[in-house]
This record gives sequence, C-alpha cells and structure tokens, in this order.
Amino acid sequence: MKFKKILVAGVATAALLLTACSGGTDSGSSENSGDGGLIGVAMPTKSSERWIQDGDAVKAALEAEGYTVDLQYAEDDIPTQVSQIENMITKGAEALIIASIDGTTLSEVLQQAADSDIPVIAYDRLIRDSENVDYYASFDNYKVGVQQATSLLAGLGLTDLEGVAASDAPAGPFNIELFAGSPDDNNATFFWNGAIDTLQPYLDEGTLVVKSGQTDFQQAATLRWDGEVAQSRMEDILTANYSDGSKVNAVLSPYDGLSRGIISALTDAGYTVGDEWPIISGQDAELDSVKAINRGEQFSTIFKDTRQLAAVAVDMAIALLKGEEPEVNNTTDYDNGVKVVPSYLLESQIVVKDNITEVLVDSGYWTEDEING
Ligand code: BGC
Repeated sequence: MKFKKILVAGVATAALLLTACSGGTDSGSSENSGDGGLIGVAMPTKSSERWIQDGDAVKAALEAEGYTVDLQYAEDDIPTQVSQIENMITKGAEALIIASIDGTTLSEVLQQAADSDIPVIAYDRLIRDSENVDYYASFDNYKVGVQQATSLLAGLGLTDLEGVAASDAPAGPFNIELFAGSPDDNNATFFWNGAIDTLQPYLDEGTLVVKSGQTDFQQAATLRWDGEVAQSRMEDILTANYSDGSKVNAVLSPYDGLSRGIISALTDAGYTVGDEWPIISGQDAELDSVKAINRGEQFSTIFKDTRQLAAVAVDMAIALLKGEEPEVNNTTDYDNGVKVVPSYLLESQIVVKDNITEVLVDSGYWTEDEING
C-alpha cells in the first residue's frame, strides 16, 4: 500500500514536470522507445485542447517509467479509433488506455485485447457493453453536472458557489436553456443528471423557465460535442422563442467548446456583454474559454486536472503490468451494462473570474501570460 502511494506520487510528479516542459502542445501521433514494453493510448480527437493535454501527460508519465508509447488520435471517427486499437494489439501492446469516442462501439476490438490478455483502462469515458474493461479512471461526473448547474444558480444570484441559497435571492423568473453532451458518451448523462437534479427545484417552483420547452436529454444532446451543432441549435432556440424581445438569462452548457458556439449564436443575435448577457457554464478550463471568462462572456467552467487523471490511469496500467491491484475509490457507480467497472474518481472544481489565478495559475495549469496573451 505504501509502495503504491509512493508510486502514485512519483508518477504524478513526473507527469506534472514533463507536461510543464512539453508545454502540452505536442501534436501528431507518435511512438517512442523506452526500456519497458509498449502501451497503447487511444484518444478521441485533437479538436479539443483537453485531449491533447491528456495524451501528452499520459505519454510523458509512461515514458518517464521506461515504457514505449503508441499515442493515437482518431479525429472523432469511430472506425479510425477501432483500427488504431487493433493496430496497437497487433504491435504487441501490453496494456491499453482508451478514451473512447462512442462508448458502445469497442466490444469486438476489446474481445481481441482480452484474447491476448491485454488489460484495458477506460480513460475518462466509460467503455460500455463489454466485460473486457478492467478499470476506469475519471472524475466524479455526476458532481461535475452539479457544479455546472450550481455555478449558474450562483451567477443568477440564487445561491453561492457551494449551492447555499442566497438570503437576498431575486425572485426571477429567469429564462434558462439547456444543452447536453454527446449521447454516445457515458459521461454526458452523468453531467446532465447532476445538473438537472440541481436545477429541478427551481424549475418546479418557476424561478427558472425553459422557454423552448426542450427539457429532455435527447432534445438537448449535442452529437460528438460539436460546437457548431450547439451554435445552430442556440440560433434556432433564439429565433423560435425569443423574437418577442424576451431574453435568455442562463445557458447550461456542459463543455467549453459548446459554450463558445452558444456565445457566437448570442452575439450574432445582438446580445452584448454587460447588457443582459446570460450566465453560461462550461467544462475543461480550455484556454480560449478561460479568456472568455475573463472577458465576461462565459461565467464559469469546471476544472478537471488532466495531469492528475493521466497519473491515475498510468498508475493503474503500471500496477496491472506488475501484477498488483490498482487503487480504486469507487466500486458502485459505473455499471457499463455488463459489469460495474472498478473506478478511481478525481474531484473537479468550479472556476469563475475571481478564482482563475488561484485554481488555474497557482496550480501551474495555465500561466498568467497564456491567459492574458
Ligand atoms: C469529458 C469532458 C469533455 C467532453 C468533450 C467528456 O467525456 O469528460 O471533459 O468536455 O467529453 O470532449
């Protein structure tokens, strides 16, 4: 146990140092040799900054431990990701760390991995419908949704950032519109459920009103987390429901890339910051969105430290390769349809303008120059 803790700390530190050195901008697939065996790392897309940082951090931490890394990005194309994983198996990967595009499409390739005794770690997104997923490294995804909704309530003056009701809360009603993530990503429902459970009392009492009436997950979902899809849905909502001069006061957005699309739709519709501009949430603390928070366009994001997540996943892989049991802290919540996958869940944090320095700069995630540049 003691050894494992030291290992976690060591790997985490190595990941941190190496990510800091590489600047987190390494792009392109790569394969480097180390003394250890090959580990395959499959990431969904480079179109979102966070996955580049995840890939860089996982690769750096594994290489620091002497492993060879095959890091691949699939540009959100499911067959590409399947064939990348097949290639990793063919090349003799000893373990796989996979952030899936569609959590339900990997059963066959994971059977091939199991047939070759290759352990599989689901990275951030649970892989569904397969018994061949050994461990899951992620964040408390329900809580991420709670935090997103709580930040909206705080932005509207109804609660503080801890969710405690404000004594001088305005009566409202406030118009809110709801966006969800990709329906094929297991996380999207966790974020949505956390957010809706938090907003529901306010919707029930009429303090919050969804003018579009689009309150079902399926109506709010955004396939592949595509910002342009969110932008055009927001445009449609504004045209259909707010042409009478009424205003949207808040938008639940589960990811920074969607928030940027939503912000574009609002700007195009004539909304301006400082003049009845809505409270908008996000996730991932992507640099452009942190800048948007500084400018007052986005109200909040949720910071999930990809360096910590990488360290946990790498630690799991190394433990398995050494015949040890990885450390987990949740064995109940992540049922993938076939089994409950033992998980290690990290904590996320709400970021608003006031705590950008404390949460993102002081932790070394972004520098002051990057944020202000
Ligand atoms: C991740 C989020 C991310 C989203 C879009 C989810 O699975 O947990 O951090 O914002 O995918 O990439």
